[in-house]
Amino acid sequence: MRLAERGEQCPQTTIIEPRESYDHDRTWCFWGTPSAQLSALVRHRWNRVQVMADGHRLEVDCTATPYEMIPASVFYATALKAISQNHRLRFCGGTSFDGEPVRRGDRWEISTTQGMLRPRWIVDTRPLRPPQRDDALLWQSFCGLEIHCETECFNPECATLMDFLPTTDQRIMFLYVLPTSTRQALVELTVFAPDPLGPDMLQPILMQVLAERLKIAPPQVIRAESGSLPMGLSSIRNRPHPDWIRAGLPGGGARPASGFAFQRIQRWADQCAGLLTQGLRPCAPRTDPWRLRAMDDLFLRVLRRHPEAAPDLFLRLFALRDFAAMVRFLSDCPSWTDCRRIICALPPGLFLGELGKTLLSTNNFRS
Ligand SMILES: Cc1cc2nc3c(=O)[nH]c(=O)nc-3n(C[C@H](O)[C@H](O)[C@H](O)COP(=O)(O)OP(=O)(O)OC[C@H]3O[C@@H](n4cnc5c(N)ncnc54)[C@H](O)[C@@H]3O)c2cc1C
Repeated sequence: MRLAERGEQCPQTTIIEPRESYDHDRTWCFWGTPSAQLSALVRHRWNRVQVMADGHRLEVDCTATPYEMIPASVFYATALKAISQNHRLRFCGGTSFDGEPVRRGDRWEISTTQGMLRPRWIVDTRPLRPPQRDDALLWQSFCGLEIHCETECFNPECATLMDFLPTTDQRIMFLYVLPTSTRQALVELTVFAPDPLGPDMLQPILMQVLAERLKIAPPQVIRAESGSLPMGLSSIRNRPHPDWIRAGLPGGGARPASGFAFQRIQRWADQCAGLLTQGLRPCAPRTDPWRLRAMDDLFLRVLRRHPEAAPDLFLRLFALRDFAAMVRFLSDCPSWTDCRRIICALPPGLFLGELGKTLLSTNNFRS
């Protein structure tokens, strides 16, 4: 889509896509900061968000940077239309490429299900392998249902970012509720755990929570979505070769501490399209600044070792007096002062203890 927008400057590009069609398979949310991309596609925004744990409820006014939602169906339709209008882009649906490209001179050879391609550059968004324990410090697994209820059960003005459930089996578990009307919402069960978990395991728990906690009788299910996002990839090789780069989640697209990836991927796509239209090679996603990586890594290690502390830690973060600092932190652009505020909001004992263990440990992941 970013290349398509560049008209005649767009280099000749072939898009290989195994999908035959695009379904409404996900919902992208992010903070509506001034630098947020694709705001025209936003279909719902919340000026208030809440976090709940252990009988406490914290509601925050985020009018300055609302929590915003783009349905995948809107995004896919916009992207496909833009692509079809640029004759320099060739979209090959129902085509896939497995294995590694072969280098021949200054070109690659790619054997797709529709024949051989010889591109100069490759932007590769294919998953490296199915999610596995220890490929990430933690996995954020979720299973969501968009539901319609007979009665008015939701407040469309306020999104529930985290409604914590009791920690079991070292798993941090919470509900994420995005109401789009008084009767309709996306209700998602989310788990942070060392192992990725599939919808088969999560959906029955979600149905039980809907009935017992939210008192929603079997609702009308409009659609379902699920996924497992890496939080702190163990090894990112987002540039296997200067002319073959990995993008999206396998290229480190997700922010370790939150799993937020959409805006990061959009920013990279814009930058990468800019380089390609100048005849330059594509760029890999940027690595986060050192201080952000260090903070995310320590935070995830604390969560992995002390899952029972998660509700308190998140409540403290959302209780920050300057909530904008938290939004900047989550949106990858915190200042040093923001980082200091966040560090000061957290209990030092847990973090210093974990820092000591990390420094002493040689086997980082299993310690
Ligand atoms: C249900 C769900 C909800 C999410 N919600 C949010 C959110 O609210 N906020 C947020 O920031 N992030 C969210 N994410 C995370 C992230 O933004 C998305 O996963 C995003 O789509 C990742 O982009 P990607 O390019 O890595 O993967 P994808 O968008 O899945 O794109 C990968 C592409 O590679 C293609 N491909 C796969 N195999 C092959 C092959 N062999 N040959 C050729 N092509 C292939 C696929 O068909 C696909 O088109 C969510 C993820 C999911 C799954």
